[in-house]
Parts: sequence; structure tokens; C-alpha cells
Amino acid sequence: IRWTEGRGWHDAQLVPYGPIELDPATAILHYGQSIFEGLKAYRTADGGIQTFRPYANAARFQASARRLAMAELPQETFVAAVEALVQQDQAWVPTGGEASLYLRPFMIATEVGLGVRPASEYLFMLIASPAGAYFPGGVEPVSVWLSEEYVRAAPGGTGAAKCGGNYAASLVAQAQAAQQGCDQVVWLDAIERRWIEEMGGMNLYFVFGEGEDARIVTPELSGSLLPGITRDSLLSIAADLGYATEERKISTDEWRDGNADGTLTEVFACGTAAVITPVGSVKSARGDWTVGDGTPGPVTMRLRESLLALQTGHREDTHNWMHRIA
Ligand code: PMP
Repeated sequence: IRWTEGRGWHDAQLVPYGPIELDPATAILHYGQSIFEGLKAYRTADGGIQTFRPYANAARFQASARRLAMAELPQETFVAAVEALVQQDQAWVPTGGEASLYLRPFMIATEVGLGVRPASEYLFMLIASPAGAYFPGGVEPVSVWLSEEYVRAAPGGTGAAKCGGNYAASLVAQAQAAQQGCDQVVWLDAIERRWIEEMGGMNLYFVFGEGEDARIVTPELSGSLLPGITRDSLLSIAADLGYATEERKISTDEWRDGNADGTLTEVFACGTAAVITPVGSVKSARGDWTVGDGTPGPVTMRLRESLLALQTGHREDTHNWMHRIA
């Protein structure tokens, strides 16, 4: 679907997957006006197909567009595009477990010209790809590297938007994590480098205490971390299961010390692609430690099962989050 200044949205097309042609002076190739979303279509227990909270993705896509000075796609158009593609690609929606059809809506500036200003033309596109589990090891805990050298986002920057530049800025730290033998980077705040923000493609949760008394804490929305839809959903699901939940600042020292004295029992990451993945170990300039006993914790696994059961139609949709497509 194209957007042109003075004309608005026009020319919606459903076409076979293939290359697109761009003039070498197209704005996106130079100034990075690019935003995207990620959501999944699941096959339900009764053979139908549904997506999880597509209007939340549509709303975040609009917020990203505003931050990048791009045209805002109406939420209904975003969801209608998702419906049209999933209906077309029904045969590609896998059956069973965590498997899904991953959907990638995105938008780029297509005006041709080298002036640095918001473009007057945009192209919204949507592609899809069948997806298995995000980490090949399934629910194997991941190891993380606390990045004190690089930051992903700063106050006033684009951290709360889902734009390509944020991911470009993160690649060097991801490579550094890999060199340290870690699977993922944990980002800290830009000013003090001590407040935990999020991971490369996931938000973080910390579990204090055990059993019924567990408290589930996630870093507050600082303005420089992405407001994840899974993060938001888990605040409700955890409350449904009877856990106390809290959004607040958590420092690297609290993580290390709480882990050492046993008050911090579990840590996990969450996101559309990764669902819920336990964090098993930490490496950092402040020392290395194993999270709990290094194995997936009971609260983490209970939340994971509840979320997946909801998304695959095996649990009652009390929040009205599922959007039936077929
Ligand atoms: N943080 C970042 C940087 C991400 O890319 C993602 C994935 N969209 C998330 C968090 C998790 O967000 P969501 O739950 O909406 O997938």
C-alpha cells in the first residue's frame, strides 16, 4: 500500500513474493526512515487460524511512524492487510506446538531525492514466513552479556519506536556478546549504565520469591525501551495467575546481589518471536553469575505455558486478545 502527500493511502496490492525496485536516490537508502512490526498467526485447536493482539501491533506501528516523521497507517488498514495475507497463505500456517506463521509488516520512505526531511512518499509492505521455535534449543536457558560499552537507545531517541536504526546500532554489541560466548545482549540505560532496559528483541522479567508468593517485576517503560506486546500481556496473565506484578527500575547490582542472596529466583525474556525464554547465566564487567540454578524456573514455565495455551486456542481468551482470521 502506497502513501503520497496530498493523496493519502492508495494502490493496495496482493502480489507474489519477489524483489522490489528502488531508485538509488530513494530516501530509505540514505536516511533510514524504516519501521516494522512482528506478529504471529497460529493454528488453533479446532483447525482455525488466529493472530494475537494485532491492533496492539497496529497502534505501536503508528507510534513508530510518528517518531520517525512518517505517514500513519490506519489501524483498520494494518489489520485488514494482515487478514488478507494470512487468508492467502493459509496453507503456510503450521500446525502444532509453538509453530506459527511469522508476519512482518514494514514501511519505508520511497521519495526520490537527497534532501534531509520527512519524505513525501511511503510504501507499506507485509511479508510472511513459517517459524518454529526462536532458539533452536527450545526452552534451553540463554546466556547474556551486559553491555556497558554500547547503548541501544537514549532519552529523547528512538528506543521506544520499532525502527531499523535501533537494530543497526545493536549489531556490534551482539557480535561482542557472541565473542564472549553469550547468546544475547542485555541493554542498560544510556546515562548511568546501571538500569536494565531490555534485550535485542525481547523484554526482561525478574521473579522474586517462590511459589504463590512470587513477585514478578519488569523494567518500567523508560522511553528508551520498546513497549513489548508480550511484556504488556504478561503483566495481565501473571495477575490472572495470582502473582503480584510490578513495573519499576532494576539495576545490575540488584540483579547480581538478589541472585547471590537467593531473593531473585528467576529471570526470563519475552517477545513475539521468542515467546518466553529463561535466562540461565550472565557475563559482565561486574562479574559473571548463574541465574538461580541455571535451569528454567517454575514461574517462568507456568507463564510460558499459559501464554502459549492462549495463543494456540487452548485457554479461554478472557482478555479478548485473539483475532480470528479463518
Ligand atoms: N524489545 C525489542 C528491541 C524488540 O525488537 C522486541 C520484538 N518486537 C521486543 C522487545 C518484544 O516486543 P513484542 O513482545 O511486542 O514482540
